[in-house]
Amino acid sequence: MRKSGIAIDEHVPLAQHCTMGVGGPARYFLEARDERAVREALEWAARRRVALYVLGGGSNLIVADAGVDGLVLKIALRGRAAREARGVVELTAAAGEPWDDLVRFTVERGWAGFECLSGIPGLVGATPIQNVGAYGREVGEALTHVRALDRRSGRFVTLSPDQCGFAYRDSVFKSGEPGRFIVLAVGYRLTPGGTPVVRYRDVLQDLERRGVRTPSLSEVRESVLGIRRSKSMVLDGDDPNRRSCGSFFLNPIVTGAELRRIEDRARFDPAMPRWPMPDGRVKLSAAWLIQAAGFERGQREGAVGLSSRHTLAIVCHDGARAADVIAFARRVRARVEERFQLRLCPEPAFWGVPDLD
Ligand SMILES: Cc1cc2nc3c(=O)[nH]c(=O)nc-3n(C[C@H](O)[C@H](O)[C@H](O)COP(=O)(O)OP(=O)(O)OC[C@H]3O[C@@H](n4cnc5c(N)ncnc54)[C@H](O)[C@@H]3O)c2cc1C
Repeated sequence: MRKSGIAIDEHVPLAQHCTMGVGGPARYFLEARDERAVREALEWAARRRVALYVLGGGSNLIVADAGVDGLVLKIALRGRAAREARGVVELTAAAGEPWDDLVRFTVERGWAGFECLSGIPGLVGATPIQNVGAYGREVGEALTHVRALDRRSGRFVTLSPDQCGFAYRDSVFKSGEPGRFIVLAVGYRLTPGGTPVVRYRDVLQDLERRGVRTPSLSEVRESVLGIRRSKSMVLDGDDPNRRSCGSFFLNPIVTGAELRRIEDRARFDPAMPRWPMPDGRVKLSAAWLIQAAGFERGQREGAVGLSSRHTLAIVCHDGARAADVIAFARRVRARVEERFQLRLCPEPAFWGVPDLD
């Protein structure tokens, strides 16, 4: 279907666009390669009164088996530009750039800032959505601005980091005003010739094991990729755990009173991880809670289960449907709630299904 210069496809299967590999078709589908196409898609959807869904690499997404009755806008804007001045590199990347390609590009040039964020699937445009993070770093730490199309005003806008409202796996884009902004490009500030900042114990231990004393950016990237691979946290076509969306649940952040209740229910197990947060609350390990509630790595229920290498990843096997993933996730959440009186929050976005509730 061709309207106002944009070619819109119909009934496009979405499973192949998502790392989980489940879900039905999009009623309408458009791959936008420039900002004009994004705006036209928005106008097209508004005129027809159909819902608009923004798709990146589909690595944090569960699509319902029935698919979605709306226009799925696949972000395919490409391009990057860098300017080095006064000891910093200002890097801007279009939303459709694959994130890990950008990380590799910066590491190869000796620009510090992204090395610990190596190997995360998906596209640049999604990095501010949940303030992607790993191994002690979050994208918001290096971000200078987000260029977006504001669906409320129909205008192109530039948001500062403060306006993005970054928090642990959260931002204005995810929980503040979900769906309001379509991210078109992201600006980051990196340090040329900088040394890597490694805060995470696993990475430090891996470097030590490799005999690396003063690691380069590439050595940190290698360690991070190796660790991630050992947990099936990079996309690898041969890995039986490959069909996931990474961590399915967020690590819960609790108050002191909640912590005492959970510790009591955990019989004060000293092995329970507790990470103090700057605001006095404490972050707990969702993986530990799931295991303590009786689940094991590799456990399967039909065509879905837990990754054999990472308790927090729900994985799909042949024949899995989105409904199986959701039913299994609900069971995990219910068991944790029963055991600890604590409700886990899912991390991915859900299309065509109302979250886990
Ligand atoms: C193996 C594996 C490991 C992972 N490891 C990590 C990790 O270490 N840390 C981490 O934080 N995440 C991790 N993830 C989750 C995921 O990769 C990230 O959240 C990633 O940023 C999602 O990017 P995407 O392009 O695939 O987004 P999608 O899955 O396509 O979309 C996710 C959400 O963002 C929205 N969105 C996407 N692009 C845009 C845009 N341009 N404008 C507006 N909204 C948009 C979508 O509408 C949707 O709501 C992992 C996933 C997998 C499969």
